Amino acid sequence: MGIPRSHPRYQSLMLREKLADGLREGLVHETGLIAHGRGEAFDYLIGEETIEAADDAARVAAAQLLLADDPVISVNGNAAALTAKECVSLAKTVPAKLEVNLFHRSKGRVRRIVSELKKYGAERVYGLNADSLIPGLDHDRALCEETGIFGADVVLVPLEDGDRCEALKKMEKTVVTIDLNPLSRTARAADVTIVDNIVRAIPNIERWVGELRGKEEEMRKIVKMWNNEKNLRNVLSYISKRLNSLQVYP
Ligand code: ATP
Ligand code: MG
Repeated sequence: MGIPRSHPRYQSLMLREKLADGLREGLVHETGLIAHGRGEAFDYLIGEETIEAADDAARVAAAQLLLADDPVISVNGNAAALTAKECVSLAKTVPAKLEVNLFHRSKGRVRRIVSELKKYGAERVYGLNADSLIPGLDHDRALCEETGIFGADVVLVPLEDGDRCEALKKMEKTVVTIDLNPLSRTARAADVTIVDNIVRAIPNIERWVGELRGKEEEMRKIVKMWNNEKNLRNVLSYISKRLNSLQVYP
């Protein structure tokens, strides 16, 4: 679109471009643009970088995915528009299954997201043959595949809706999420919440997968020691300290 690299908000504007393209290509739902705006606001507050608390969570996320029997990465429209390539790469590295799961479900959009993931090398993508229902949700939002999310023990659900996150928890799954809003219901319901932008978080989880692979004992220890509530509190305290130290006119 011709955004100059020197623009101080280059990265952020590029992400907006990707979402706008995603909307035109039928990957992203209109409301996805609004959800992204909420995310951007929180990204501004953390300084648009991976903070220590988020890196700690990404490490636990990697351990959970590696220790899982049947890990699944759930991909929605925004995740596909921003990180299709990175999600495919992470799924191959773990390895984990990929499933397209939409809040505003339409067969056409599921199909488009599946082909986007395949474009980046995904071999099998779940979601088109939804044959199971997550209990406690209305029909469309509950749809998933029995051999995908329904049967998974660990699910990575970035940018997830609070209701569905809670419903997955009730199914006794280990839920890992990426959500820039540390106060959202999703952030609070998940077992592991990475408060970071998905574009930084997915590659960071993959980096940790590389570091932790084979270190069973270390992974079990960090999973056992993990306290998500405490981590979210650290994020909030980071944000408030940061805001207090910021000068309006530097
Ligand atoms: P909840 O239903 O969990 O209370 P919500 O209704 O505020 O949350 P949703 O619209 O359901 O939010 O989901 C969007 C969430 O994803 C928001 O919390 C937003 O902060 C987050 N988000 C949006 N874009 C990104 C991004 N690029 N990276 C990480 N998180 C993001
Ligand atoms: Mg919501």
